[in-house]
Amino acid sequence: MSFRTRFAPSPTGYLHIGGARTALFSWLYTRHHGGDFVLRIEDTDLERSTAESVNAILEGMNWLGLTYDQGPFYQTERFDRYREVIDQLMAAGHAYRCYCSKEELDAMREEQKARKEKPRYDGRCRARTEPREGVEPVIRFRTPDEGVTVVDDMVRGKVAFQNHELDDLIIARSDGSPTYNLTVVVDDMDMGITHVVRGDDHLNNTPRQINILKALGVEPPRYGHLPMIMGPDGAKLSKRHGAVSVMQYRDEGYLPEALLNYLVRLGWAHGDQEIFGLDELVRLFDIKDVNQSASAINPDKLLWLNQHYIKTLDPDHVALELGWHLGQLGIDPSEGPELRDVVIAQRERARTLREMAENSVYFYHEFEDYDEKAARKQLTAEAQPVLQTLHDGFSALGAWEKEALHEVVVHTGERLELKLGKVAQPLRVALTGGTVSPPIDDTLVLIGRERVLARIDRALQKISAAAG
Ligand code: GLU
Repeated sequence: MSFRTRFAPSPTGYLHIGGARTALFSWLYTRHHGGDFVLRIEDTDLERSTAESVNAILEGMNWLGLTYDQGPFYQTERFDRYREVIDQLMAAGHAYRCYCSKEELDAMREEQKARKEKPRYDGRCRARTEPREGVEPVIRFRTPDEGVTVVDDMVRGKVAFQNHELDDLIIARSDGSPTYNLTVVVDDMDMGITHVVRGDDHLNNTPRQINILKALGVEPPRYGHLPMIMGPDGAKLSKRHGAVSVMQYRDEGYLPEALLNYLVRLGWAHGDQEIFGLDELVRLFDIKDVNQSASAINPDKLLWLNQHYIKTLDPDHVALELGWHLGQLGIDPSEGPELRDVVIAQRERARTLREMAENSVYFYHEFEDYDEKAARKQLTAEAQPVLQTLHDGFSALGAWEKEALHEVVVHTGERLELKLGKVAQPLRVALTGGTVSPPIDDTLVLIGRERVLARIDRALQKISAAAG
């Protein structure tokens, strides 16, 4: 049997982390089984679906590296097919036109409530054969009256639904447009989906979908419903818990590897292991190991994972993301040192790539102002001979290399009988405007000869201006 899953977002907003986790679990499960992963855009809600949102979803999937083998398929391109299946259901007696007016339905509901029954459509149009003047009918699926529909869920185990509790759902609106449960069923059937992984907000739809598939004579796929994601306070996850959109995590400086590793632990575990590479996940992941209870986001853990990946991933790979962040700051990375060298120099200090980019601006650009406190403390009259000696030493150097630069710094200290800190700190402030940078010799290499000499000159001028 071929193995095929899908991710089926509705393009009514960005790709949020709940959706991304669904996509990831579905993707991992497929890759583990060597199957096909289908991307389907459920855009039949014409009022809420936007092209912008489709782009945001594609962008998010792409950034996370969740590759799909087929699609994206758009439901709006498949209306003829949905119509065909609705006609088929009608012809076989599995669906019927319902002429109930809104007033009639409201009255029915009120009566049911008065009798303390669960409000549901009572099937009164099942037997009606005559159209009603002035009412455009909807089409309802005729749910079996008896029996039990069991969802043998890959995450939750068996969940049973009494068919008599499922009312006859609308599969086509009065304007003829198909509804969610119908389009999903037709697509899962036509696309040969064998396994459906989705959020457990859809669990109640599943017996309905199974019944429609059975009416069509099709074996339903296996379903796995993922538990909710909560905020750290236990409430339903929302914007007030911080970033919820995948691309916002990128903006904030997270690596896709960190976000994926973080997402997989929202509901899945392998012993108490925390760090997983993607290949390892593909090998280990099984939907049956997904936890049934909701999991809460933990921003500190994400930050910790991000630092881990910044430090350990191939610097060339991290450099791609750093380049993007520098671009966001208006910096052209070709105007300074190689990005990979900056990553290597900065990676012990940065928790996010945004932070790394913000702390690396001086490699590419003249900094505007000195940090006031740092300048007051370090760019003093005593620092004048230090900076002058350094300038002389650096100017005399042949190759601009780490060891030679280091020696100039050490010799300057020896000549002036100063500890290394008394040399390195004024130099650091002169070069970066502040007191935080990678080790001074790395900083010198990265900033480069021309900028180093110019910045020492600038600091010397500042000192003499203050003295004068
Ligand atoms: N389009 C649905 C949603 O975004 C998902 C449908 C499904 O996975 O069956 O919630």
